[in-house]
Amino acid sequence: MAVLDPVVRRPHHPAAEAPPAKTYRLASRAGHPADTVVRVGNARFGGGFFAVIAGPCAVESRQQVLEAAHAVREAGAAVLRGGAYKPRTSPYEFQGLGEAALELLALAREETGLPVVTEVMDSEDVALVARYADMLQIGARSMSSFRLLQKVASAGKPVLLKRGYQASIREWLLSAEYLLAAGNSEVVLCERGMRTTDSEFTRNALDLTAIALAHLETHLPVIADPSHGTGRADLVPTMSCAAVAAGADGLLLEVHPDPARALCDGKQSLTPAAFQALCRRLPAYLELEGKRG
Ligand code: PEP
Ligand code: MN
Repeated sequence: MAVLDPVVRRPHHPAAEAPPAKTYRLASRAGHPADTVVRVGNARFGGGFFAVIAGPCAVESRQQVLEAAHAVREAGAAVLRGGAYKPRTSPYEFQGLGEAALELLALAREETGLPVVTEVMDSEDVALVARYADMLQIGARSMSSFRLLQKVASAGKPVLLKRGYQASIREWLLSAEYLLAAGNSEVVLCERGMRTTDSEFTRNALDLTAIALAHLETHLPVIADPSHGTGRADLVPTMSCAAVAAGADGLLLEVHPDPARALCDGKQSLTPAAFQALCRRLPAYLELEGKRG
């Protein structure tokens, strides 16, 4: 006779012993109390280590990316960013230079020594992007592209996982779980702002609570992206410091040599001078938090 579950009176099945499907058991701090430290080149995220990722939203030209790369390295960035494949709202907007951008990022790495992170939007591009990049970025719009997550996880590179702009914290952590379950534990979470009722003054609202909460729930490092998180360069320095106070293990910042002429996200991009000023402001906040930058 079948054994009945005493609570729901259904036949007992071995799957009943498996963790509930909505549990991020590998990402959870409960099963792994120590902070995970993720390394990208010489940069370290988590476990008391803090690093800044900076660079243009999109790679536009050789001169633009090299100028940005040298400027951010001199100011103290540890990782260079730059989009090769851009997830644009309109198909008529600049879509990125594709492989040519990847080659320029590799050149910038050679010149500056900075490791590079860039977004991969499509499963078909994973192998190509992984040949050039030191870290693969999953964008906010792709956070729930589960097959892409699985493919990216198996590329053998650290992953920067952005939170969808309407995703719950649980959904975000479950997307991280997809990466961990596929065998990749080098995952850095990135809070990049939520869509709110205000679109007049800000593009998004950086969810500082999510940064603090994610640290309670998971051992994975959590960084903040105040560039997309606010949409305004004049708010980026303040929200960067606020993110450090909320426990961020790093920052992702858009920096462009000439924001007014940027092909993508110019309004939220810092000039090299503004980036340098912010990098001088951060150490006092890091010291308060006991972080090494
Ligand atoms: C980006 O980092 O340039 C980007 C497109 O970010 P998000 O996916 O957070 O919008
Ligand atoms: Mn951008």
